[in-house]
Amino acid sequence: MEEIPEFRVRLEPVGADARAVLGFAAAADEVGHRHQLGGRPTWLQDDQTPTCRDCGERMTFYGQLDSIGDDISLADVGMVYVFVCFNDFEARAILQSG
Ligand SMILES: [Zn+2]
Repeated sequence: MEEIPEFRVRLEPVGADARAVLGFAAAADEVGHRHQLGGRPTWLQDDQTPTCRDCGERMTFYGQLDSIGDDISLADVGMVYVFVCFNDFEARAILQSG
């Protein structure tokens, strides 16, 4: 599969513990809201689309998950990107810093 249609993903904190860690004191407005399924990755650094270890083909972008807040920040307001191979049901994750 080449590309999955794009879905915006909105966070719904479950409980006070989750609400307490949401948000950043000093980051751009979009940080923390860049969660997404399908479409194309919004890379923070260079394109790092992986190839499948089994078949060697370029993997399909499945989605990206953003940093959550100042206490749960991926490598300085970074994101984690998830890729899958629909031939082999392999998955890879790439983390980039903001
Ligand atoms: Zn594969």
